[in-house]
Amino acid sequence: MNSKRILIIGASGQIGSELSLKLRVLYGNENVVASDIKKGGKELMASGPFEIMDATDEEGIANLVEKYEITDVYLMAAMLSATGEKMPMKAWDLNMDSLFIVLNLAKEKKINKVFWPSSIAVFGPSTPKQNTPQTTIMEPTTVYGMSKQTGERWCEYYFRKFGVDVRSIRYPGIISYKTLPGGGTTDYAIEIFHEAIKSGNYTSFLSEDTALPMMFMDDAIKATIDIMEAPKEKVKIRSSYNLSAISFTPKELAEAIKAELPEFEITYNPDFRQEIADSWPSSINDTSAREDWGWKHTYDLQKLTQAMLEGLKD
Ligand code: NAD
Repeated sequence: MNSKRILIIGASGQIGSELSLKLRVLYGNENVVASDIKKGGKELMASGPFEIMDATDEEGIANLVEKYEITDVYLMAAMLSATGEKMPMKAWDLNMDSLFIVLNLAKEKKINKVFWPSSIAVFGPSTPKQNTPQTTIMEPTTVYGMSKQTGERWCEYYFRKFGVDVRSIRYPGIISYKTLPGGGTTDYAIEIFHEAIKSGNYTSFLSEDTALPMMFMDDAIKATIDIMEAPKEKVKIRSSYNLSAISFTPKELAEAIKAELPEFEITYNPDFRQEIADSWPSSINDTSAREDWGWKHTYDLQKLTQAMLEGLKD
């Protein structure tokens, strides 16, 4: 198993940090190089090699790949939906440039395998909202969604034209307690837990009935490693796989928290992120991921709520 040497770009972020730690457990600390433009948490910095690197620095990334004899790259650096709407051109440049750098390294056979996450943001207001199919209308209205949709097309193109082994998942909103989220539209579902413990009340920036697809971090990490470990022929979709676990509204999440913390109170004050949320699906059909490479989630709303409250109290 251990001829694998992994580079994670964007390793200090919400998903990258937990993914890096899990990969270090699986493949050995010295075989998993974490990199980001900023330092990560204590555990990430102490447990293995870390390099400060800009994901848009083509030469710098190529040098890291050569220095550490990297075989697999996980490209987690990106500008997310809410921040991207404030800096559209910067979001586009970061999200696209970093992807081309990594795809081209694979095209030139300097690396074997690429993981690149897409998002439910590839869908838009004209997409069927419930049980959104794998293949459907995609007219995203955010720069972030546009960059992810375009990225998906390029991934499939590099696979078809150049045989690049790129694998991708359309993550839903990822809920976790170890690292703070990075400016997405589903961040309310994390902030709510912090505030429930700290102050006992929370004002949601999405309306009470806004249902969005969500997933606990452990499930997201499992899906990421599962698709990267799957035999090549099982990964039939080379744009990006729909991936689903649970779907809930702020009101339903507040009720689940109240079941654990009866004093908890929620109020609603939707802001600009409501419009983004309204353009996204409420639930996702992920039959292809389940059939092709055996995806299964393990956290439902109650289990997620308990894990978040316990994790944050610790
Ligand atoms: P995040 O914002 O928490 O982390 C991104 C990391 O990238 C940060 O540590 C940041 O410092 C780093 N970064 C930013 N610019 C960089 C640059 N120029 N060079 C190097 N590093 C840079 O994001 P995340 O939530 O961990 O998301 C990781 C990936 O998953 C992204 O591609 C995101 O679009 C995707 N995704 C996340 C979610 C979610 O709910 N978190 C949902 C769907 C898709």
